[in-house]
Amino acid sequence: MRTVLEFIRLCKEMGVHLEITTLVVPDLNNTENELEEAADFIASVDAQIPWHLSAYHPDYRWNAPPTDGDFLLRAAERAKKKLAFVYTGNLSSGNDTYCSCGEVLVRRRGYRVDAAGLSPGHAGEKNYRCAKCGEPTKIAL
Ligand SMILES: [Zn+2]
Repeated sequence: MRTVLEFIRLCKEMGVHLEITTLVVPDLNNTENELEEAADFIASVDAQIPWHLSAYHPDYRWNAPPTDGDFLLRAAERAKKKLAFVYTGNLSSGNDTYCSCGEVLVRRRGYRVDAAGLSPGHAGEKNYRCAKCGEPTKIAL
C-alpha cells in the first residue's frame, strides 16, 4: 500500500496525468473511514486528481457480496467535498462530470459519452468551458 501512495505522489511531482480507481469491496475496504482516509490522502496530493469509486460484483472466485450502490453514492458525495472530480463506476448513475453551476459537462451512460455541456475555450486556451455559464474547466481540448 505504501508503494501505491508513494507512486501517486511521484506521478504528481513528475506532472504525469493521474486518475485513481478504487474497487470498493464489502468486508475488505468499504468502511466510511477507509474511504475518507483515501479521499484525504488524494486531496493532500492534489484535489484535482480524478477519483473513481468502482462497485464490486461477485463474477468469478471472490465470494463477497456486491457493493451497495447507495453506500457508494454516499461515499462519492462525501469525497466531492474534498476532491473536484469524483465518479462512481459499475453503477447505472453517478458517472457524470458537473460544473460548479450544476450543469452536466460530460454525461456517461455505460460506454456512451456525451460532452454536449462543453464549449471550446477562448482563443489560446487549451481547456473547454462550461457551455452554460462559461466557467473554465480542467477538461483539455
Ligand atoms: Zn457552468
